[in-house]
Amino acid sequence: MAPIPKSMSGILIEENGGVEALKWKTDLPVPQLQDDEILVRNEFAGVNYIDTYFRTGLYKAPLPLITGKEGAGVVVASSSPNFKEGDRVGYVADHSYAELAAVPASKAIRLPEGISTEQAASCLLQGLTALTFVREAGGIKQELGISLGPWTLVHAAAGGTGSLLVQILSVMGAKIIGTAGGSEKCGIAKKNGAGWVIDNRSEDVAARVKEITSGHGVDVIFDGVGKATFDLDLEIIARKGKLIIFGNASGPVPPIDILKLGAKNISILRPVMFNYTVTREEWEQYSAELFDLILTGKLNIGIHNTYALKDVGQAHSDLEGRKTTGKLILKI
Ligand code: NDP
Repeated sequence: MAPIPKSMSGILIEENGGVEALKWKTDLPVPQLQDDEILVRNEFAGVNYIDTYFRTGLYKAPLPLITGKEGAGVVVASSSPNFKEGDRVGYVADHSYAELAAVPASKAIRLPEGISTEQAASCLLQGLTALTFVREAGGIKQELGISLGPWTLVHAAAGGTGSLLVQILSVMGAKIIGTAGGSEKCGIAKKNGAGWVIDNRSEDVAARVKEITSGHGVDVIFDGVGKATFDLDLEIIARKGKLIIFGNASGPVPPIDILKLGAKNISILRPVMFNYTVTREEWEQYSAELFDLILTGKLNIGIHNTYALKDVGQAHSDLEGRKTTGKLILKI
């Protein structure tokens, strides 16, 4: 195995801002291992919307910061009894936009045969989000069956997380309405398993939901768009519906008047994937289930584009510009 270098390349944020805040550096110190950590030579890093929040400062972290929350590669050093040099791993943890990352062993998973490091860096964060949100936030179980399945709606249904939500809901037998911007994205949402798609650029979403559900509304909404769709969600949700708001792609939802919920006895959840995968058991069980869905061909990770690490600014700009479908990854 190649020796561990003294310095490494990576992307550093020194001040919050636009994509120009993502600085390519070649002389960053290699992180030192703490107890129960592994040093991973990253082969790929996933790009996620949350990375843009840490760049802009919507989410706070001490600066300077090597950002990135998802990666996969090979273990080159380990202070954990559970991993050894040479293990192929994927992880959901900080500082993945770099050649090497020190990762808490509790946030890493050994990759089964058949799952490449490219696939792992493409599926873990968004896949675990989709799986835990469908199960734990949505309470949607396979046994419900197609005929009894609830009406579900996924916004940004051709996006990274949205594509996986639609596919997993489809496996569970839910009736899925996907919204997406433009006919190409609507086509992808349909291919992913949405029975009905609504083009949010050219159609009246509320009117179409009413028509599709014969006036019932949707029982469970998965909304990673946030501010721009929140009022619409309150309009289209069914009585006793669950509104799962999980992101800020259009900005965070402003504080709400809780009395509004009584009009239809709505539940609102604002879950975070990391808090559904806290224990080792949760982390391993959901990761294994995710890999199994991929290995059995039930879940397809569509990669929009693979960017060089130093071109991460372009990746952020494409993601924020609504130009992408599926997953964006960085080749390290
Ligand atoms: P996506 O690939 O879904 O990209 C975002 C999509 O949002 C766009 O393609 C676009 O789809 C839609 N969108 C609508 N309005 C806007 C807007 N004003 N600006 C930008 N995009 C807009 O990204 P991700 O899958 O990485 O993330 C999706 C959401 O999920 C994010 O809000 C993210 O923070 C959240 N998330 C939350 C997690 C959690 O634990 N809570 C974990 C993972 C993701 P279209 O053009 O089709 O409308």
